[in-house]
Amino acid sequence: MSDCIFCKIVAGELPSSKLYEDDLVLSFLDIAPLAPGHSLVIPKNHYEFYPQVPADEAAAVAAAMLKLAPAVVASQGAEAFNLLLCNGAPAGQVVPHVHFHIIPRRPGDDLGFRWKHGSYAEGEMESVHRAILEELK
Ligand code: AMP
Ligand code: ZN
Repeated sequence: MSDCIFCKIVAGELPSSKLYEDDLVLSFLDIAPLAPGHSLVIPKNHYEFYPQVPADEAAAVAAAMLKLAPAVVASQGAEAFNLLLCNGAPAGQVVPHVHFHIIPRRPGDDLGFRWKHGSYAEGEMESVHRAILEELK
């Protein structure tokens, strides 16, 4: 049996407030919400990291979020939402099963999201651009 809590939710071994389910995707309320309605959308199959998710499963997750995000927002009388994926511990990932957060937002809700933007040194942007294009080859 898997130790993964989200796999246990998929298997029905742990409870969840289920919002949506199809062959590839499950969505349920986050148990410790940043705002009421904060929801998670996961591939049913276990992948620790997003780039491991096969394209058809990633597409199914994306399609589910298209339906879920407006419903979550409308149900809470919110005005906006963030979609968030934490991929890897330095990015804040705690549960090692790929999951997107849908976080309803209101004006002045104090959750923030204005990360501190930096700037490139002379020539740095060009070399970063080249490095990424090289990885994409
Ligand atoms: P992350 O930091 O992106 O890995 O987020 C993990 C999220 O999973 C957190 O927002 C937790 O509140 C949520 N979470 C952990 N356990 C459960 C659970 N049993 N049911 C629903 N949400 C959970
Ligand atoms: Zn899992």
